[in-house]
Amino acid sequence: MDHSIIVVGAGVVGLNTAIALARKGHDTCLVDTGVPGAGTSYGNAGIIANYAVMPLITPSLRKSLVPMVLDRDSPMSIQSSYALRLSKFGRYFLRATRQREWEASGYSMGSLMKDAWRCWEAVLEASGSTSLVKSSGVVVAFEKPASFQEFLDIEAQYKKAFDIPYEPLDGDEVREKVGVLRNTHSGGVFYPDARFAVDPYALSRHLFEHYLAIGGQFEEASVEAIRSINGGHTLTLKDGELSARQVVLATGNATKSLLKRIGVDLPIASERGYHAIVDSPLEMARPVGLANHGVFATPMKNGIRIAGLSEFARHDAPASRRRIDQLERIARHHFAAGIRTPWVGSRSTTPDGVPYVGGFRHHPGLWVNTGHGHLGLTLAAVTARALAEEIDSGLAAQNPFSPHRHL
Ligand SMILES: Cc1cc2nc3c(=O)[nH]c(=O)nc-3n(C[C@H](O)[C@H](O)[C@H](O)COP(=O)(O)OP(=O)(O)OC[C@H]3O[C@@H](n4cnc5c(N)ncnc54)[C@H](O)[C@@H]3O)c2cc1C
Repeated sequence: MDHSIIVVGAGVVGLNTAIALARKGHDTCLVDTGVPGAGTSYGNAGIIANYAVMPLITPSLRKSLVPMVLDRDSPMSIQSSYALRLSKFGRYFLRATRQREWEASGYSMGSLMKDAWRCWEAVLEASGSTSLVKSSGVVVAFEKPASFQEFLDIEAQYKKAFDIPYEPLDGDEVREKVGVLRNTHSGGVFYPDARFAVDPYALSRHLFEHYLAIGGQFEEASVEAIRSINGGHTLTLKDGELSARQVVLATGNATKSLLKRIGVDLPIASERGYHAIVDSPLEMARPVGLANHGVFATPMKNGIRIAGLSEFARHDAPASRRRIDQLERIARHHFAAGIRTPWVGSRSTTPDGVPYVGGFRHHPGLWVNTGHGHLGLTLAAVTARALAEEIDSGLAAQNPFSPHRHL
């Protein structure tokens, strides 16, 4: 065997996983097709959203899904040619929107979220990256009074149940907390314990340097297939092979096709998101979620980044002009400015909004850490710790994050 563990995928999830394993003394090799941190982890809104316990796939989405998808200005869309690929995903998705299932998913997420920041804090300190994350809290603002009320009536109950501090705000207080925003909000919520990364790509680069410094190895290669042999696994690369006793797939969206080749059909959807920089040197005190537009505006190192939207589409389809125009309209509406340098990336999303973190009964030594959807930055350090512990202790009989819940 070339290594004891190979982690495939050097996004923020794979980097944290490789660090957690290397710190436990495993001979670890990280493999990525390209530059670490340059995939989806490059372009997120930067929020460490440890308040976001209840999955976005809510029971009310059952009724609002079709009108939402048909509305041109809705933050959510499904590319018609891609919809046909979502039959298994769709079945589990509908199940996940039942009240009882949604609450169960929320409790699973809550058990991760309570340690999400503590795990990040340890990694940031060890890697010398604390200056890349700010602790200003985050505001989520609502334009439509009905959606603000719905939030206060339903979601707020769960925040209380999970002991998540928050402060309701009126429209003027939203503006006071955020700064530059035009005053179009009926209300909002302030989460004082949320944090944000000022440069998500620089954060991944710091993690990568730290991983190398603690003895981790890196191989730039594209993994094309996996085979189980002699109590381990062999990865077929474009040029050659690599083998290890254990393999972790932290390959985001590509995990679905890699698993399919060994007969594992895990329902992972490609849910694309967009970002752009507001083309004006405005200053904001802290990030704001523009709830009715499905985006965050985050004061990053290179300007205000508007990031979000939800487009179910092939990960490699061309960027949609319509979505970029949508970001432009949001920027004009809230900041009276245009946008520059639009970017599109693909989240790996599970039907219940809970990541897949665990192994496979029929493929001992093969593990996944993927499906983090909208919360990969938030959950990267805590899911890395959870997986590293499971790898050391052996496949857990009871694991709410196990991929087996959808196999
Ligand atoms: C617009 C937008 C805004 C977001 N905002 C937030 C936010 O504010 N907060 C938050 O918590 N999350 C947010 N997210 C989600 C978050 O960015 C993702 O969940 C996270 O980046 C996923 O990380 P990853 O490591 O799983 O995937 P990636 O960053 O995509 O990394 C996967 C890596 O695997 C490699 N790879 C794939 N296939 C192979 C192969 N066959 N061989 C070798 N290497 C391979 C790729 O090259 C890539 O480097 C947002 C996402 C988007 C799109």
